[in-house]
Amino acid sequence: MKITKVEPFQLNWGEGEKGSKAALVRIETDEGLFGLGEASPMQGGLASLGIIKHDMAADLIGQDPLDQAVIQEKLFHKLVKLGPDGALAGALAAVDIALWDLKGKILGQPVHKLLGGAWRTSLTCYASIGGNAWRNVDETVRVVERRVAKEKPAAVKIRWDGDRTKIDVDIPGDIAKAKAVRKLLGDDFVLGFDANNGYSVGGAMRVGRALEDLGYTWFEEPVQHYHVKAMGEVAQRLDILVSAGEQTYTVQGVTDLIEAGVRMVQPDIVKMGGITGLMQCAAVAHAHGVQLVPHQTQPSIAHLANIHMLSTIMHLSKPVELADGWERASAVFKNPSEPVDGRFTLPTTPGLGYEYDEGEMTRRKIAIA
Ligand code: CA
Repeated sequence: MKITKVEPFQLNWGEGEKGSKAALVRIETDEGLFGLGEASPMQGGLASLGIIKHDMAADLIGQDPLDQAVIQEKLFHKLVKLGPDGALAGALAAVDIALWDLKGKILGQPVHKLLGGAWRTSLTCYASIGGNAWRNVDETVRVVERRVAKEKPAAVKIRWDGDRTKIDVDIPGDIAKAKAVRKLLGDDFVLGFDANNGYSVGGAMRVGRALEDLGYTWFEEPVQHYHVKAMGEVAQRLDILVSAGEQTYTVQGVTDLIEAGVRMVQPDIVKMGGITGLMQCAAVAHAHGVQLVPHQTQPSIAHLANIHMLSTIMHLSKPVELADGWERASAVFKNPSEPVDGRFTLPTTPGLGYEYDEGEMTRRKIAIA
């Protein structure tokens, strides 16, 4: 079996140029099968999709799709000077996810079976609620209340998403919001606090101590992601579990975070070598006794790839991320990342197990120049 066609494209969730877009790739074989993969959607994923089209597609044609790990290493090492982080990693992830989807269809098995089997076929979700730097205390509480009622999550993470050029902007205000959300949801509700890199080490210590008092479970990306030692210092000095890694693109980078002292890592399947890369991270995390809790914000292909992979983790310690705006995928996909009673069900059909409306997919496709 050979790869005969590689088609990177954007899928417009909305209407016209302003709609948010998914960055997808469709890989076809000479036996009439196809697989779908997804890249990180930053800036519409155009940089990753351009790399697939101009730097990867010609090399992929004629390859055996079952050789996905060899293909990934060859492309990574050929193009390493375009990366190794960022857009290149997104392109590699998209190709890898599409090849795993194809592998499942070729072998007639769902992806989780090919990864060694599922420990669970139903996974709880956590509501990841962004933009709270820009809300006051009451607005924050109202948004959390709405999402909890709608999604029935097993946990909630409040994200800050502040101005990345500033740190320690409003520590008392941030603590007040964390306190109000605790009061809203009660003492037993599992809560995470995502600083989105908003603090200095000193600021992070102050907020982290407050979160400990409030019984929060984890404190995400307290300082700049590129300050790996500082991230580790905060993780080691605080009692609360500190997490990081959504802006880490290689298994070596994840290992650096663990060596610095981080004990919960969050690589993202669309930035991190896809399923192949995330499985490598899972092995490293397990070897170190570190929790793997992937970052995941995309509501269709990446979501399915993520839950197939997470179903295979024995010591899965946290629910699966469900980010803002997941409803957008239901315009095309019949099984978007919509939780039912707070849970996702693992597909059992071959490959990733997506179902979509062919007409809507075609209508919303944007070709890559
Ligand atoms: Ca985050």
